[in-house]
Amino acid sequence: MNDSLTPLLEMTRTLGLPENDYAIIGEGNSSCRIDADSFWIKASGQQMHNIQPEGFVAVRFAPILAMLDEPAGDLAEQKKVMEAAKLDPAAPGIPSVEVSFHAALLHDCGVNFVGHTHATAINRILCSPRAADFALRRMCPDEAVLCGPESVLVPYVDPGLPLSLAIRERVQASMEDWGEAPKVILLINHGVITLGKTPTEVLNIMAMCDKAARTFLGAAALGGPVFLSGEDVLHIIRRPDEVYRRKQFVERG
Ligand SMILES: [Zn+2]
Repeated sequence: MNDSLTPLLEMTRTLGLPENDYAIIGEGNSSCRIDADSFWIKASGQQMHNIQPEGFVAVRFAPILAMLDEPAGDLAEQKKVMEAAKLDPAAPGIPSVEVSFHAALLHDCGVNFVGHTHATAINRILCSPRAADFALRRMCPDEAVLCGPESVLVPYVDPGLPLSLAIRERVQASMEDWGEAPKVILLINHGVITLGKTPTEVLNIMAMCDKAARTFLGAAALGGPVFLSGEDVLHIIRRPDEVYRRKQFVERG
C-alpha cells in the first residue's frame, strides 16, 4: 500500500466507528494531501468504518481548483472534470461528490487532513433553529481550545460544487476575520467538517465538537446553554499554556 495512504485509512476507519455515531452506510468522506499537486480522497459509495486502500482515489488539485475558480457546466460535466482529475485514469473508483470542498480546504487552509461526517449529535443541532448559537459561541474552555473561537456556519446548499463554493466563500471570510484557518465547519441540515495538520488533530476536533453538541443538547433541555463570554473565549485561546497544549495536540499526531 502507498505509505501516504496509511494515516488517512486509519483516520477514516476511526471516524466511521459505530460507537462514535458520526456516520453510517456511505456517509462522510475524508482526504489528505499527497504533495503540492495531488491528494487522496475517499471514493464515492465507500463505508468509512471498514474502508480498504482501494476505497481511496488519488486526484490532482489543479483541474478541481480551476473548476471552483470558474464554475461552469452542468453536473454531468462537473463529474467528468472530477473523474479526469484522477492521478491514474485506470485506477478504480470515482472521487466522492464532495471532492471539490476537500481540494479547496487542503489548498486554502494550510492543513494536510480533512474529515467530514454526519455526526448525529451535531446534526440534531444543525437541523434545529439554534445552529448559529452552537457555531458561534463556546461553552467550555477545552471546546474553545480544540474547536477554535468560533466555527464557520454554512447554510444548506446542494451537495457538490454549489456547496463547495459556499464553503470556500465563508471560510475565506472567517480567515480574514481571525487571521487563521478555522478548525470546524458546520453545514446546516447536513454535517460537520474538521481540519488538521495531522489525522489526530482531525479526530480530536471531531470528538470535541461531538461532545460539545451533546453538552449543548443537555444544557438546552435545562433552559441553557450558559455560554462563555467572548472575552473569556479569547483569553483562553491566547493563554500561553493553552497555545502549548494545542501544539501538543498537533505534534502528537
Ligand atoms: Zn456530507
